[in-house]
This record gives sequence, C-alpha cells and structure tokens, in this order.
Amino acid sequence: MLDIPVLISGGGPVGLMASLLLSQHGVRSLLVERHSGTALTPKARGINARTMEIFRQCGIDAAVREAGLAEGGTGLIVWTETLAGREIERRVPGRAIARNMAVTPVKNCLCAQDDLEPVIRRFAEAAAPGMLRFNTELTSFTQTPEGVTGTLADRLTGEETAFTARYLIAAEGAQSRVRRALGVTMEGEEKVYDSVNILFHADLTRWVADRPAALYFVEQEGLRATFLTINGRDRWGFLIHSPKKYGWSPQDFTAEFCAELIRKGIGVADLPVTVLGVSPWEASAIVADRYRVGNVFLAGDAAHEMPPTGGFGLNTGVQDVHNLTWKIGAVLRGDADEALLDSYHDERQPFGRIVTRNSLANAMSMGRDQRRSNVLPRREFLNEQGLIFGAQYESMAVVPDGTPPVMPDDPVTEYLPAARPGSRAPHVWLTRDNARISTIDLFGPHFVLMTGDGGDAWRRAASAAAPSWPALITHAIGAAAEIGDDGHWLAAHGIETDGAVLVRPDGHVAWRSRSGAADPEAALRAVFDRLLGRMPVHALSSQGAQALPAGVTETRMLAVTRP
Ligand SMILES: Cc1cc2nc3c(=O)[nH]c(=O)nc-3n(C[C@H](O)[C@H](O)[C@H](O)COP(=O)(O)OP(=O)(O)OC[C@H]3O[C@@H](n4cnc5c(N)ncnc54)[C@H](O)[C@@H]3O)c2cc1C
Repeated sequence: MLDIPVLISGGGPVGLMASLLLSQHGVRSLLVERHSGTALTPKARGINARTMEIFRQCGIDAAVREAGLAEGGTGLIVWTETLAGREIERRVPGRAIARNMAVTPVKNCLCAQDDLEPVIRRFAEAAAPGMLRFNTELTSFTQTPEGVTGTLADRLTGEETAFTARYLIAAEGAQSRVRRALGVTMEGEEKVYDSVNILFHADLTRWVADRPAALYFVEQEGLRATFLTINGRDRWGFLIHSPKKYGWSPQDFTAEFCAELIRKGIGVADLPVTVLGVSPWEASAIVADRYRVGNVFLAGDAAHEMPPTGGFGLNTGVQDVHNLTWKIGAVLRGDADEALLDSYHDERQPFGRIVTRNSLANAMSMGRDQRRSNVLPRREFLNEQGLIFGAQYESMAVVPDGTPPVMPDDPVTEYLPAARPGSRAPHVWLTRDNARISTIDLFGPHFVLMTGDGGDAWRRAASAAAPSWPALITHAIGAAAEIGDDGHWLAAHGIETDGAVLVRPDGHVAWRSRSGAADPEAALRAVFDRLLGRMPVHALSSQGAQALPAGVTETRMLAVTRP
C-alpha cells in the first residue's frame, strides 16, 4: 500500500504546479498522469503577469520566459480580412501599456502550453524526484474519515497499486472523473459554441514581422478564425470559430480541408502549409458549486471551464493551487486546523465565477455564439487588469481591518493597488544590499510580517512567539531599515512607520495594523489563531488590528472585484 500525504491526479499545468508548490511547502506528494508525457499541443499561450509573479516566487520565471516567445514578439492584437489582405484594426492590449505594467515587477509572457509544461515538470521532478508518475491513472477512490484511499493503474503494464492519502487534489481537466464521482454540480452555460483548434507549420513571417501580435483575427464572409502566435515565424495555431454555422462537422476537418482553410485565412492560395494536429472542442462557461468535498479538492479546469477568450483558464488554475497548497502544508504540519481548508473554496470559487463570466462575455461580444455578427470585441477584452490582480478574498484566512472595500469604476479593467486584508499585497520597488527588489520577492513558502522602520515592537513580538507559529519571516522596511524604501512603501500599504502588514505565503494580505499596538505579542497571537482556525472567527473582532479611524481617505486606493 502506497501511503502519501497528498495525491495529485492530473499532470497538466495545474497538477504540475501543485506538485512544485507542495514541495516548496515541504509537503510530500505523488502526481499521477495517465498520458505518457506533457501536453503535445499548445492550447494556452498567454501567461498573465500574476501567474508570472507566482512563477517568479517559485524560481521558474526565467526558464518559462526562455521557453516562450522572446519579449517584443507580441504586443498587438490585429484584425484582418486575410493576413495578406486588408487590415481592419489593430490594438495594443491594455495589459501591455506602461501604466498597467507598473503594478508588477514582471511582464506577462507568451509561452505555449506544450513548451511550458516541460519546464514546470523539470522543476517539479527536481524538487520531488520519482514522485511524478506518467502512464499512471487514478482509477478509483473512496473517502474515509482519515483521508482518501483508492487505486492507481499503470497504463503500460496494467499493474494496479492501492494507495492511501490524506488529501487528493483533482487537477484532471474539464472531464474530471473525480469531480463526477463526487457529485459536484457545474453551474453556468454549457457548450455555448463550437470551435476547431489546428496546429500547423507554415512560414508567415512576411505578413506578421512588421506587426508582431499574439492574435491575428480573420474576419471574412464564410470564415471567422484566429491565427494564434506560437513562435511568431513558422509554428502557429489556427482557431476556427463556430464551424457548425458553416455546416462543417468535426469529421470534415481532414488535413487537406484544414490546410485549405488556413490558406483562405492567409489569403494566399498556394502557400505550403503542413497540418500537425486538429482538435475540435466546445466552449463552456461552468464552475463547480464546491471546490472542496471532504478531503478532495478540485483545481484548474476540473473546477472551472471557461472560453479561452481572455486567456484565463490555465492562469486561474495555477492561482488556485497557489492558494490551496500553503493551506494543505499548514494543516499537515499541524500549524492550522482543518477548517483553514474551507477557505480554498470560499476564496477561489467566487473568483472563478467572475473570471468565467467575463471570459464568456468576451466571447459573446465577438459573436461566437452566432447571435451577433460583431467583429470587434468589447473593450474589456485583454484589458482585464482587475481580473488579473484584483482578487480580493473574504474568508477565515483573512482578518478584516475595518476598512470598506473600494470599488474601482470598472473592477474588470481597473486595478487599484491596496494592502487591504484579502487583496494581493501591492508591488513596490525596494532596495536590499544595493540591489533592486520588489515586495513580491519577499513572499514565498512562509508568512511575512513587514513593518515600517518604527515597527521594532512588532518584530520583537514576532520573534518572542515565533516557535509556536508557522514559518514567519519579518522585515523592516524604510529609509533607515534593512530593506530600503524611498517613501512609497508606507503609503502603498496604508500604515504608519510603527504599523505592520502580514502577508500569506500566496502573496495576499492576511492582516494589517495601521500603527503600533499596546500588546503586539497578544495581537499577533490572536491574528494567527484566527487565520489558522484555532479560534472562532467572531472572537477576534477588532483585536489585534489597529482599526483605521472612520472616514480615512485611504479607502480610495482599495480595490475589490465586484461579484
Ligand atoms: C484553444 C485554447 C486556447 C487557450 N488559451 C489559453 C491562454 O492563453 N491562457 C490560459 O490561461 N488558458 C488558455 N486555455 C485554457 C488552458 O488550456 C486550460 O485552462 C489548461 O490546460 C487547464 O489545465 P489543467 O491542468 O487544469 O487541465 P488539463 O490541461 O486538461 O490537464 C489535466 C490532465 O489530467 C489528466 N488526467 C485526467 N484524469 C486523470 C486521471 N484519473 N488520472 C491521471 N491523469 C488524469 C489528463 O490526462 C490531463 O493531462 C486555452 C484553451 C484552449 C482550448
């Protein structure tokens, strides 16, 4: 009998990241993937800046960038009648403009899923040698009071192995059998439109070199499609929208027919084109009603299936396991009560719904369901700063500080950096040992307590009580402190020099105190007891946090994503 703390079912990007993150939290896991290797086709390509921040935290951002398209290889979105013919419009996506890029130390990245997965796999295997098993399928499972038991099957030999695990993460993709077996309901709109994804080889350099774009839409009578940039030269995706509308069914898409449609999209009848793969699929916009059932967690496409318009599927899945894995680590180490694990659903499911709904709205605005014939999308498309950075959680794993959430005018397109508990801790440039670092670089597989340079009492309190707390690192930040700041950090975090901000291992603010406290040790102890489920949620009320005076103007900089 194989006995493992965490079993991960599914070795797509989300399962692979779950494995790597668990290793970084010191948790042993076994990942099983029924296929012989990682993805063969480049479905996702757009890695958004929040996901790149997570990759940076894990130390894999440079390798991902190396595997992806060189910087500057995209930057536009182009609409054409044919690639060689009339251009209808070109736009710079909101995500790429300087003001929006200033909220993060990283840049988004275009890295096709079949190039990305081997990178994550390499790091995950190095962190957990022998603990990623391909050609291995989870074939059955049962929940017990102690965890999960079940059977793994070797797809080459047919050999079966019984296992027992404390937790199961089902990162099995949209067709997850674990999800079905749990009786979880998917809410939303299913099979909204059809599509065919073609991978092909052809040199398109002469039509794209002077207008590097991530997407080239083709809008003509009898064909609506998108060229998806992979290497920007000779490897491309071609997405045919709503083929049923033209009377085409999946079996019509032979290699010859696909090549003919690709040439039609390029507008050059005799261009050599080699079709490498064809996959018909249907877009749904559905979200699991429960992300946790007992000791089983759904993550990635198993928890939410969304149209790719906006490029959120993989990104949202990676962010799911970034949220889940530190909580599993805290519970397995005995630092936290099991109840902490409920906050995974409470935090990620509402956000999954918002992202899914907006991905669908993008698709609808371009008439993907054939109810409209719009060519150009709604202005939110690829301009979703609020969805990328603005997730703001409310759960037992966040201690409110009494400040009201402030809605940006448009929570989809606008992100207002804020350190209100629940939000992503804002990025501020700092200096350490004469080098420039981001606040984001301070976060990792531990809690971080940041104080101003007058926050000695908080730091003393933290070290006095540290043995009874989960891994906690403290930093003083200020002109005269260990980490230098030119004055932006305090304002960005909404505290005085004697205040403190506690950041969770996933980079979200857990708690903050605007200034000092009468008994900082008691205050911090109460905060951790609440965060880790060691005391009832209502018992903390305003203890521990120095509440902001009513009506302070700081609330103007707080962001929330409106449901
Ligand atoms: C055309 C297209 C373009 C896209 N573009 C983007 C984009 O730009 N950005 C973005 O973020 N997303 C994009 N997506 C979505 C993205 O591809 C998915 O969200 C992503 O693949 C989900 O990852 P996952 O790990 O959850 O699931 P998957 O990638 O589906 O992986 C699940 C894995 O689990 C395995 N598995 C299932 N059951 C078992 C079992 N019982 N035992 C063992 N293994 C099992 C499967 O074999 C599979 O390998 C796009 C999708 C499409 C179709």
